[in-house]
Amino acid sequence: MIKIDALQALYSFYDDFTDRLDFSCGPGCSTCCSVNVSITSLEAAYLRRHSVLSDTRLQERINAANRRPHFIPTLTTNRIAHHCRHRQEPPEEKGMHAPGPCPLLDPNGLCRVYENRPFSCRAMSSIQKCQADGEAVMPPFLMTINLALYQLIEHLDVEGTSGNMLDMLAGDGRNRISNTPFPGFLITDREKPPFQRFLNTIKIYAVNSGHLADFFPLQTFHLN
Ligand code: SF4
Repeated sequence: MIKIDALQALYSFYDDFTDRLDFSCGPGCSTCCSVNVSITSLEAAYLRRHSVLSDTRLQERINAANRRPHFIPTLTTNRIAHHCRHRQEPPEEKGMHAPGPCPLLDPNGLCRVYENRPFSCRAMSSIQKCQADGEAVMPPFLMTINLALYQLIEHLDVEGTSGNMLDMLAGDGRNRISNTPFPGFLITDREKPPFQRFLNTIKIYAVNSGHLADFFPLQTFHLN
């Protein structure tokens, strides 16, 4: 089973799912394209498949941005979910967001790696034009779905690491944290019926000659 194909399937599934929703985001809208994007090592590998990343000038821009302040996560989504599911307060995130645009943004405000962009970028959307401070407005159930996808993507890469996209692409191995196995979803009782319907759809999504369900523990797609 090739995990990168499963990652691509999760992206496609999510893009199909969100295509049906009415967002205010559009080409050239790049308020959320900052130096604070977190990704997994599998996503970094998928990103590197984009031909533009073999451009040495672009790599130099990434390295330069990497030398400036940027958010360095100390917790992964599944690590936080593990604490929440055990009714424990997760440790405080020590990383601080920093100002500055993503170096993968082109002068027209378009993403140079759009087809291969990581989940953090796909999940950032708003049903209203973002305000000056960049605050997005998202339907609550979409936030639940996004959190679930972050968890699945991290589990898919459970032997890998996570970190800021700049650190993951800079290649010196610094500032990376180990991924954590899927500990269960974080959903309310009210969300269970629609969320189970969502899981029923995602688990049968095709990956090569199999399905997404083949890449996760059996119990992942069945709520208790
Ligand atoms: S990778 Fe693309 S979508 Fe993501 S923050 Fe950078 S420019 Fe924006």
